[in-house]
Amino acid sequence: MVYIILEKTSRLPGFYKLTPEERLRIVAEWAGLTDEEVELLKNYGNLGKELANAMIENVIGGMTYPFAVATNFRINGKDYLVPMVIEESSVVAAASHAAKMLREGDGIIAKASDPIMIGQIHLVKVDSPHYKAALILDRKNEILEHANQQDPILVKLGGGAKDLIVRVFEDTPIGPTIIVHLLVDVRDAMGANAVNTMAESIAPLLEKITGGQARLRIISNNAVYRIVRAWARTRPENVGGPEIAKRIYEASVLAEIDPFRAATHNKGILNGVIAVALATGQDHRAIEAGAHAYAARNGKYEPLSIWRVDEEGYLTGYLEMPLQIGIVGGATKVHPISRIALKILGTKTANELAEIIAAVGLAQNLAALRALVTEGIQRGHMRLHARNLAIMAGAKGDLIDKVAEEMVKAGRIRFDYAKELVEKFSKEK
Ligand code: NAD
Repeated sequence: MVYIILEKTSRLPGFYKLTPEERLRIVAEWAGLTDEEVELLKNYGNLGKELANAMIENVIGGMTYPFAVATNFRINGKDYLVPMVIEESSVVAAASHAAKMLREGDGIIAKASDPIMIGQIHLVKVDSPHYKAALILDRKNEILEHANQQDPILVKLGGGAKDLIVRVFEDTPIGPTIIVHLLVDVRDAMGANAVNTMAESIAPLLEKITGGQARLRIISNNAVYRIVRAWARTRPENVGGPEIAKRIYEASVLAEIDPFRAATHNKGILNGVIAVALATGQDHRAIEAGAHAYAARNGKYEPLSIWRVDEEGYLTGYLEMPLQIGIVGGATKVHPISRIALKILGTKTANELAEIIAAVGLAQNLAALRALVTEGIQRGHMRLHARNLAIMAGAKGDLIDKVAEEMVKAGRIRFDYAKELVEKFSKEK
């Protein structure tokens, strides 16, 4: 099927059935893309066209992000090179820098809980909901067994449905409601597919027991049982002296009292977390949804990490967050690069990966706080940002660094100046 576009409409029935080339032709016509732009889009990079087209719908091309490795990480007494994929400059440099500050001894310590995810079944139109909750709990073993029949592999690995929690909401705008939580140990998976299948499978049984109607049957991304804790203690000299250590502690307190600051504090943590998540093929939206829900668990949005100075003057950091990640399932084994990322890390379990990610989050957080309480975030940031501006202004090859350096030297890191410099240096050539 090939479309001839007579009017500009986004209504394109059957678009999904076309080949990527046919779709690209339509989009190129729609947007007036040049041949060069079409060629760029057609570059599927290390994913390859077939895989890209199989992964999501309506594919017309590929987009590459840089893949980097953060150095200096020592976690639980083991050295790691940490793959990171991210569009923002300075994140990898900052992570490596802070990892060096936290390297001594066993480095950053991190421990993950059992990988327990929650499957929710929302039952509406349940009369006498407290009584019905008791009926559900009375048949807990039968319900868990039914759920476990859906995933013999998971059960064989020691995972599977482990427990049931029933929450009653007697008075809601939609009448009495019961929310059942199925607690599933998902071992090395992120777990959404596994848990969703189980939630859907037990819903008819729950309807029969309660006389209610099952509505939503899906995982909760508020993964409060799948928690990773990472902590580190470092001599004040490692962060630039006792005064800087004290200011990092103050910055932590400011995030603890102020949700506006806490959001940015947590964004800094997520810079590291999501970069490793992207490199290893994780569902990063799930991680972010979980992180923010956890940050707000006490009814106020709070930082996921806390920094203090102990009585010996050492800076101590502690991070606690849910991490719903896997090394099987999802894109982790599908994307060839996430497989390589896992090989670089040498991780054999999802829990080890979660510990690495939490440790990176803690280090990333330290780097940001340290920069904020000393020279400010812009100096280091802008140096790298200057390179991006130079590229945007048309610089290529050696010219990129030349233009960036000149902007930094002049303290004028702006797009208009980058353009001016590119023109000037190009003429000089
Ligand atoms: P999956 O179903 O592809 O893989 C998990 C399965 O692999 C298990 O059920 C098990 O049978 C098998 N397995 C083999 N070895 C295992 C091991 N060592 N540990 C655990 N399981 C093992 O993937 P998944 O992790 O269940 O689901 C992840 C996908 O679900 C992601 O792509 C995510 O984007 C998607 N998803 C997310 C949401 C959400 O977060 N709200 C909703 C729907 C789908």
